[in-house]
This record gives sequence, structure tokens and C-alpha cells, in this order.
Amino acid sequence: MNISHENQYIIEAINIKKEFLVKVKKDNIIISEEKILRAIDGIGVKIKPGETLGLVGESGCGKTTAAKLLLGLYKPNEGKVKFKGENISEFKGKKLKDFRRKAQMIFQDPYESLNPRFKIKEILMEPLRIHKIGSNYKERYDLAETVLYEVGLKPPKTYLERYPHEMSGGQRQRVSIARALILNPSLLIADEPVSMLDVSIRAGIMNLLTKMIKERNLASICISHDISLIRYLTDYTAVMYLGKIVEKAPTEKLIEKRYHPYTDALLEAVPNPDPDYKINLTKIKGEAPNPVNIPSGCRFHPRCVKCMDICKEKQPQEIEIEKGHYVLCHLYSR
Ligand code: SF4
Repeated sequence: MNISHENQYIIEAINIKKEFLVKVKKDNIIISEEKILRAIDGIGVKIKPGETLGLVGESGCGKTTAAKLLLGLYKPNEGKVKFKGENISEFKGKKLKDFRRKAQMIFQDPYESLNPRFKIKEILMEPLRIHKIGSNYKERYDLAETVLYEVGLKPPKTYLERYPHEMSGGQRQRVSIARALILNPSLLIADEPVSMLDVSIRAGIMNLLTKMIKERNLASICISHDISLIRYLTDYTAVMYLGKIVEKAPTEKLIEKRYHPYTDALLEAVPNPDPDYKINLTKIKGEAPNPVNIPSGCRFHPRCVKCMDICKEKQPQEIEIEKGHYVLCHLYSR
């Protein structure tokens, strides 16, 4: 599924697949056997500057593995990831270091992702030193001060001298964003950026991320299981289920009209402020299967309320059901 049909993509994944060899217990006893876990099974995305893609799905659907493949932290077993048109698997030496600088990630947990022994100024200046940005301490300190101001920690000098434990969760997440931005990236991946934060401070972080992405014209990916966050932050949404993108469209289009039964169930689970609204809990059955035992045919079939005989045997092919709206489901096969 392609996000856009024009050139100048910052990041492009072409039919990437990723498998892991895992040990699973046999018959629930101590003896274990090795099995292949297909974490990502042929996905494609293309993102231009200024565009944000939302990757949404349940835990274990492969969202974070997809992000790691796009950042070059995993090598795909098949397919390619291209950064500004070049295959990242071939990057070495200075080129790889430059790519690491240009592709940044914001992690879910601001409590874990900042080194507790470093002051905020050290956390921000360390990547500058590694990438040889700023010719001396003063220049790097000034850059750290500027970026803290940009992410709303004012006056920045008071925060630069603090340790992470002297800050609130929201302030720490602002530092994480500042640490990613200080290297002037082209690609920003945010993995569940507000899920560890109090509801009261989520809106502030979401506004900040939106502002930074637009102002800096970043290509970005927001990973979340929370479709309301995806709706707020993203231009396009890709719904993942067990390692595949099952539906993808411009976000508002997808929310207005979803075609895939799994997307329908996901959206049905979003809380509705209308007290008279009755949630339809019959749109999905059971739990997600273990990814080492992916069901035959359509991988969603054991949980699908619209399952037909063909679904149990044959994998559906992707079709473009409306312009720019793709779905992977036999209900729409022509
Ligand atoms: Fe449901 Fe069949 Fe569509 Fe899969 S292909 S989502 S089982 S209707």
C-alpha cells in the first residue's frame, strides 16, 4: 500500500518482511521448539516531507517492528527500505551515521528513555557532540537552550540544569521531543508518544508534536493503538493486523467510511461521548491469535463476524476501493 503517488519521499518501504526465530513451549511443557514468527508480512509505505502516517492496531500487530525496520534497527528478510531514494541496508560509515541523525524516534516511556544520571543539558548536548554539531561547548549549550525553548520548557536555563527525576512526565516527554529535534531530522517516528502520560497533559504534547512536524516539514509516523490520537495527529492511517496492513486511507476518509471488518471493530471501540450511544461489541470475536500460528487464508478470519468460506482458504488481495483508499478483504474482491 503506497501512501502517495508522487516522488520526493523521505522514507519508502517496499514489500518488507521480517521474521524472527522464537522458542515456544510444546504442549505447555518445558521442552520448547523453534518456530518462525512472521512479525511483518509484506508491507509498503511512502511518506513525503510534512506528511504524517498513523500506524494503528492492537498490541503485537507489528507496529513497533515496522518502525524499527524503517529506522534501520532491523534488517528486513525481504523487501527494501529507502531513505530519500537510497536503500538503507547499504549504508555504512559516515552515510549510516548521517542516516541515524536524520531519522529520530520518540519513545513511549519518558521515564525510561532519559538517562537518570545525566542533567538535561547533557542529554541534549551528547548527540550534538557525537554528530559533531557545534564547534564548542558554548555553541552546543546554546542549541540545547534554543530547542528547549521551542518545545515549551521556559525559561530553558532552569530546565537545563535539572535531572530527569526533577521533572514531571509531560516535561520529560518534551525533553525527549527536544532530543529528537536537536539533530534536525527529516524523519520522526513517535511510538505511543502520550500513552504513559496523564490525560490532562496529553493534549499539550499532541499539539507540540503537530506544530513541530508542520513547522519543520518532517516526514513522520505516529504509532498507536489509540485511534483518537491517530485522528488528531495524522494525514494518513494504516491499520495493521498480525503483520499486514489491512486498510489504508487518508485519515478522515478512513474514519468516515471504513471497509475492513477489523477497522470497523477498532473504531467501534473508541469511546463515544454520547451517553445514549450503544457500543456494538459484536463486531469482533475472541482474542488476537499467537503470531507464530497465523491462521490460514485471511488472518483475521477466526475473529471476523463476516467470515465466508473463501476467507478460511485464500489470502485476500489488496484492492483500491476508492481513490487512495486500500483494503485487504474478500468482501470487496471483484
Ligand atoms: Fe473477514 Fe473474510 Fe474480509 Fe477476512 S477476508 S476480513 S475474514 S470478510
